[in-house]
Amino acid sequence: MSRVADHLAELTGFRDRDALDATLVSALHDLLRPREIAIYRIVGEPEDRRWLTRARLTAGETVPSADALWADLATLPPLAAHPLRQACLQQREGMVVDGPPAQTLFPLDLERDCEAVIELHTERPLSTEQLRLAGSILRVYRNFHSLLDYSERDTLTGLLNRKTFDESFMRSTVPAPPVPDPATGLRRGGRNAWLGVVDIDHFKHVNDCHGHLIGDEVLLLLARLMRGVFRQGDLLYRFGGEEFVVLMRCDDAIAAGAAFERLRTAVEHHAFPRVGRITVSVGFTAVRLSDTPSSAFERADQAVYFVKQSGRNRVEGHAALVTRGALVEAAIGDDVVLF
Ligand code: GH3
Ligand code: MG
Ligand code: MG
Repeated sequence: MSRVADHLAELTGFRDRDALDATLVSALHDLLRPREIAIYRIVGEPEDRRWLTRARLTAGETVPSADALWADLATLPPLAAHPLRQACLQQREGMVVDGPPAQTLFPLDLERDCEAVIELHTERPLSTEQLRLAGSILRVYRNFHSLLDYSERDTLTGLLNRKTFDESFMRSTVPAPPVPDPATGLRRGGRNAWLGVVDIDHFKHVNDCHGHLIGDEVLLLLARLMRGVFRQGDLLYRFGGEEFVVLMRCDDAIAAGAAFERLRTAVEHHAFPRVGRITVSVGFTAVRLSDTPSSAFERADQAVYFVKQSGRNRVEGHAALVTRGALVEAAIGDDVVLF
């Protein structure tokens, strides 16, 4: 009993989802002694969804392993490769299949848009007592997850809030290691992180003409459009008011610019109830090794400011603006100067 209590204490001692998943896997590994236990999460585009391993332990291992968040999607198993996991998510209930090895799966419906399962392989099917124990620990895990969600998300849009930006920035922008190219077998550079700032054009006008409630609805719909445009692993924040931030991984400035351009076009063509058309201005930058959260934000924000000064409803990259002579790269500690 005290071992269970120890595991529960450890489980709720983290505010980091990666550590939380690793702890859950370790706890169930210690209590149920499976051959293998892992959490798998669905990632990728709607037409090409894959299984990402969040944490996995096999008998004899002590430290869980995981796929990198920036793993090359093509190297991950497609959804159809694991029909049992799919069935578990569809039926939204635990499943037990006799072995050997016996397989036990539970759905982990966590944050919005997140689909994941926990899967155990055991010599024999788990006993009723063991199933009850696993079920109780998973309830604590789910409850703790929704508490985390509550403290990390903006209540109106459900996007991440500003408070979480600094913490997740450091974690999600560490340079990705080079990955083998499946076509050539050579290792190519890992994808760089990019930061974009999205600001609604003339939003004050929306509020003034239609009232705050309709303004809020526009913010909600814009967040929905953002979710549709960006990938599942990309981090989307509402920074405050009508300003949004995106952190993502991309091969180069062209690909990053194209993603933001997709958002700009989607917004421009969306008919917002009552309000009609709105537009957004976007500035983005590559995240540098030397960056702090605020230095990277500052560059993207300068690019937005430039767009606002020169007509709005456009996407600009900071580096391209510097190359064109429209912005001057600041010396460290200086402000960027606008021409
Ligand atoms: P620009 O094109 O230069 O960005 O103009 P703007 O009007 O969008 O920008 P400005 O910063 O002048 O005004 C932002 C407005 O956003 C002011 C405020 O009324 C509105 N706003 C901020 N937070 C909220 C919110 O939570 N809900 C609603 N409905 N409006 C908000
Ligand atoms: Mg604005
Ligand atoms: Mg603004």
